[in-house]
Amino acid sequence: MHYVSTRGSAPTLSFEDVTLAGLASDGGLYLPENWPSLSPADIAALAGLSYVETAVRVMSPFVAGSLDEGELRGLCEAAYGRFSHGAVTPLVQLDHRHWVLELFHGPTLAFKDVALQLLGELFERFLSRRDDHLTIVGATSGDTGSAAIDAVAGRDKIDIFMLHPEGRVSDVQRRQMTTVRAPNVYNIAIDGSFDDAQALVKRMFNDADFSSRFNLSAVNSINWARLMAQVVYYFYAAVRLGAPGRPVAFSVPTGNFGDVFAGYVAAQMGLPVARLIVATNVNDILHRALSDGDYSQGQVVATATPSMDIQVSSNFERLLFDAGGRNGAALAEQMRGFEASKAMRLTNAQREGAAGLFASARIDVDGMTMAMRWASDTAGQIIDPHSAIGLAAAREAQVDPAVPIVTLATAHPAKFPDAVERATGMRPSLPKRVGDLFAREENYARLPGTFEAITAYVAERATPRA
Ligand SMILES: *Cc1c(COP(=O)(O)O)cnc(C)c1O
Repeated sequence: MHYVSTRGSAPTLSFEDVTLAGLASDGGLYLPENWPSLSPADIAALAGLSYVETAVRVMSPFVAGSLDEGELRGLCEAAYGRFSHGAVTPLVQLDHRHWVLELFHGPTLAFKDVALQLLGELFERFLSRRDDHLTIVGATSGDTGSAAIDAVAGRDKIDIFMLHPEGRVSDVQRRQMTTVRAPNVYNIAIDGSFDDAQALVKRMFNDADFSSRFNLSAVNSINWARLMAQVVYYFYAAVRLGAPGRPVAFSVPTGNFGDVFAGYVAAQMGLPVARLIVATNVNDILHRALSDGDYSQGQVVATATPSMDIQVSSNFERLLFDAGGRNGAALAEQMRGFEASKAMRLTNAQREGAAGLFASARIDVDGMTMAMRWASDTAGQIIDPHSAIGLAAAREAQVDPAVPIVTLATAHPAKFPDAVERATGMRPSLPKRVGDLFAREENYARLPGTFEAITAYVAERATPRA
């Protein structure tokens, strides 16, 4: 399989190169040259398979030329063997038509583990092949940092430096990062906001000299391999609800448009997806774009669903490219316009390309609270605030009543105990396997939020390129 950039002028790469590169050199994002397809018979044959076996069948065409089936299976067994539920992503029924797909049984209790645990395995395999070394640098407001650290802790070809804004991530989130004891993990609390941390990381990547000396890499959801790993659970869930004979709809709490784009990929591959419901909180740029063609950046408002407090969704570019007819030069022009003015209109082709599959909804704090209560009252299920945004959107969507709707549950409720308790009166407790989180010793550096301080700290500890 070969990969092309959404902006049309970066070189075509293999799966291995795309995994290590992340972003394309022309500023675009990589996508497969064409969509592989699974026939109805192939999909029917997924019935009853384990998560790992489903993953191998769904991902094989994307890794062709870089990994054989046996290697892929080995990496999936390692990645998903660390999940605490035998089904990896179990499906839970709420009523006759609503279901929840629990994606939070990984080591850090958020759906990001599903993709990052596999990415850690892929990095290690590809870096050993070329005897190369990677320095991952990232900024986090919570979930991504802990999932990335857990995925690479202890791997010798990788160092990871994770910046978080001091005092502005939750105690659980901070401890999930700072109690990991491994020689290749460096946590840095910076004096400043998440945006300050993000800006420092961007500046490090833009410093060509620094970036190539340490072979810097990012782990955010622009990496194709992360999206690929997320395609699997759409197949896994839909097959359990009757696909390929019966179409299924999905509602997805959305921030960077990575998770829901994986659902779009599943549909392109032949899965009968009746609707993809893009659920946003009051930071609603995606709802405005999909309902009205208006993609214009607003001010970020802080909510009870911090992982969705986003005003620019990097993966949306992948949809604009694919649904709009795959014209890289035209999209590069459109994106330059957006970067300059922070606003753009979708073209008619882009709107029509998205309209067949996508619906969207903007859910405020009342809608979120009601959905948490409804899940608790009707089915005795305690869901987290992000999942509740998805469920609220699912319940108000116009979908054929015969079609089951699966809401993706993206975080364990115990990651957000205060919001859950406010809505349901129940305070969720952390699962046993992370139970001693508050007894473990924390270890992190505190640095001023200046470029000089951060780069000096990284340069002293990172392994330069061979
Ligand atoms: C990251 C995250 C999201 C948003 O996912 P995207 O792929 O960025 O759209 C939603 N919920 C939780 C809990 C997350 O951590």
